[in-house]
Amino acid sequence: MPVTPMLESPLSADVLGRQDPELAEILLAERERQSTTLQLIAAENFTSPAVLAALGSPLANKYAEGYPGARHHGGCELVDVAERTAVRRAQALFGAEHANVQSHSGSSAVLAAYAALLRPGDTVLAMGLPYGGHLTHGSPANFSGRWFDFVGYGVDPESGLIDHEEVRALARKHRPKAVVCGSISYPRNIDYAAFREVADEVGAYLIADAAHPIGLVAGGAAPSPVPYADVVCATTHKVLRGPRGGMLLCGSGLAERVDRAVFPFTQSGAQMHTVAAKAVAFGEAATPAFTAYAHQVVANARTLARALAAEGLGITTGGTDTHLLTVDPGPLGVDGRTARGRLAAAGMVLDTCGLPQPGGRGLRLGTAAVTTQGMGESEMARIAVLFATALRDESAGRGVREEVRDLTGRFPPYPG
Ligand SMILES: *Cc1c(COP(=O)(O)O)cnc(C)c1O
Repeated sequence: MPVTPMLESPLSADVLGRQDPELAEILLAERERQSTTLQLIAAENFTSPAVLAALGSPLANKYAEGYPGARHHGGCELVDVAERTAVRRAQALFGAEHANVQSHSGSSAVLAAYAALLRPGDTVLAMGLPYGGHLTHGSPANFSGRWFDFVGYGVDPESGLIDHEEVRALARKHRPKAVVCGSISYPRNIDYAAFREVADEVGAYLIADAAHPIGLVAGGAAPSPVPYADVVCATTHKVLRGPRGGMLLCGSGLAERVDRAVFPFTQSGAQMHTVAAKAVAFGEAATPAFTAYAHQVVANARTLARALAAEGLGITTGGTDTHLLTVDPGPLGVDGRTARGRLAAAGMVLDTCGLPQPGGRGLRLGTAAVTTQGMGESEMARIAVLFATALRDESAGRGVREEVRDLTGRFPPYPG
């Protein structure tokens, strides 16, 4: 299910090329890189030309501090309609009483969730960073670790799964003000009901950081955190396939606190071109084609996991429920960092990540982008073979690079 052809790209019109060839060359080269290598970074996707059109529109010029009907700037009549449309579409898509679509990024959404519910110094229970917690889940290098007292839960070193008994024991011991569930690399569906139960037991808020799976939720291919979490934070640019940005979902009881936590507490002017692009993406995500896409993303990830296992790689948790999988290249005789380098040389772009075993470093892959390009399960099987070939033998990289070029050439992300 490739996105519709890019008919009126600003680049094809060559506006930028005539005025600023230096920058135009970089943009064209990046477009070439994206379409001739395999984008296996689990957080990335290809937005549609319609989303890109909204991003490149004159809405980028508009200042709009505040919320529709209550702005601090004049001339907001039209962007108000755009934002109301985005909010209404998000509410309908996720069955949420309230949506805030102004967060500049996933991290800004998490910051706003904390600002809405916590005070500096509060205790928060979240997945530990070595196991897949995000920077905003208590990294000492991030505001979260500096301003809050984070306690980390891990995953079972054998199964790679969240140990809900450990989560419960830590919650009882530390009495957190909030429990955070969500991860940058957990390949399985999160049991939101189990987290809700623990949060209720200790009187904590439940924050679901669904940055990764929210697109699967939109397409009905993953369970929704909305009925369970007090606040859901998300990105709009991962599986959801919208512009780079964040959003928050909550019940009407917390709506005002969440809105005030975004503006004026942590942000000022909303980016109205991005808000409009979010509306476009929510519109796309409400279609049957997107539902089919989300299910294909998961089917592709499962096939890729099976095929990589057949090549001898270790697959964390034995598979995946989502768009992402984490693999241990150790059985093929390479560590995570070396593996990422060999794969990059062969045209396969992905990240390293933590593994359930303490200190282990593996690879994180996702199928959101390749599925948008129209690749299916036979291509996943082919990718697994190319993957293992590049890992086993450094000198095979050049040959694999040509095969990747051939494969991607048959699935252009922006045809025409
Ligand atoms: C991607 C991600 C974020 C942050 O998103 P940005 O837009 O990069 O700030 C936050 N939390 C989780 C779990 C993520 O996966």
